[in-house]
Amino acid sequence: MRSFIPGEGYSEVKNIAVLKNLGTALVNGGAGFLGSHLCERLLLRGYSVVCLDNFSTGRRANVEHLASNPSFRIIEHDVRQPFDIEASLIFNFASPASPPDYQRDPVGTLLTNVLGAVNTLDCARRTGAIVVQSSTSEVYGDPTQSPQRESYCGNVNSIGPRACYDEGKRSAETLFFDYHRTYGVDIKVGRIFNTYGPRMRLDDGRVVSNFIVQALRNADLTIYGDGQQTRSFCHVDDLVEGFLRFSAAGSACHGPINLGNPGEFTVRRLAEIIRDLTNSRSRIVHLPAVIDDPRQRRPDISRAMTELAWQPHIELEAGLARTVEYFDGLLAGTEQAEAV
Ligand code: NAD
Ligand code: UDP
Repeated sequence: MRSFIPGEGYSEVKNIAVLKNLGTALVNGGAGFLGSHLCERLLLRGYSVVCLDNFSTGRRANVEHLASNPSFRIIEHDVRQPFDIEASLIFNFASPASPPDYQRDPVGTLLTNVLGAVNTLDCARRTGAIVVQSSTSEVYGDPTQSPQRESYCGNVNSIGPRACYDEGKRSAETLFFDYHRTYGVDIKVGRIFNTYGPRMRLDDGRVVSNFIVQALRNADLTIYGDGQQTRSFCHVDDLVEGFLRFSAAGSACHGPINLGNPGEFTVRRLAEIIRDLTNSRSRIVHLPAVIDDPRQRRPDISRAMTELAWQPHIELEAGLARTVEYFDGLLAGTEQAEAV
């Protein structure tokens, strides 16, 4: 196992890293889109933060600005292998999340979610840490109920191309609740609905990044299918606030809790909003629908409102405007680099 931890406090024991540090939050997947924002906010709250990542879909650049902070450490490690890091709080965010990313290596995705959950829970069991799981609205599959409440058991095709992710996340939830019931591990399971914002990759394939990049390049905005499918989009700052509140909630609060923005938009409407925001000359075009694409997504967040006093505050257009700014800067940098 490779590590980037300089100095003391770290030793290698049979492929297992041991960090002696109380008041530490461990963020698996901390170099990814959501994980990097979480690392930042945890540092601001006064935690020492360990970011554990295999850099498969995440990037060092996402956490480069934190590297000089003495309370921040990066460990390169794959959660499919055991690890032992002393932390009081663990966030398991390690998994590809964009459909093209998680379908590129479906077996790897399923194992990351199942073995990653086992190794994370074993680490929490040894250290007594509170352990927070990034689950997903995908556990509801193509829902037959809207909005989706946590009590809804879902409608997932267990053999389709999305199953590696959906069933991986469902199995991880099962493992979390069984470790809690069997071993008393203090778990918190949050179900994330589509989240967007700065640090999404230009090429990650999700709808918000695709449409913004296409619009900024005046390229066609590619709708898969008829565009009448709906999603609820949450800005990353709102989402991270929800997770921070959840992690600090009392020991009786295990979830699952939906974390997302209940505003529901068709994909067609999203394309129009982004085209308008960017003053783009892009056309909106339709490509074939993708297999098992859920028709609707909208969280019921009453549980989060009651138990965490949380609800999102960033309206879609305002959040998209900030995200457009980010991608504009990123594209300008990319074009400059290409010109050299
Ligand atoms: P991301 O791809 O940007 O981040 C995932 C991070 O996990 C990356 O840094 C990646 O390198 C790392 N990773 C992947 N496999 C790993 C492994 N085997 N070992 C160690 N690290 C590994 O995705 P994201 O959008 O930041 O998603 C983070 C988490 O939130 C994921 O678990 C995802 O399932 C969940 N989630 C995200 C959304 C969303 O809309 N962004 C929605 C639902 C759930
Ligand atoms: N989508 C689209 N064009 C794109 C990318 C995605 O029409 O370029 C659609 C996709 O088919 C889905 C919705 O947008 O209906 C959200 O897709 P995303 O991959 O962002 O998230 P998920 O499907 O996991 O909710």
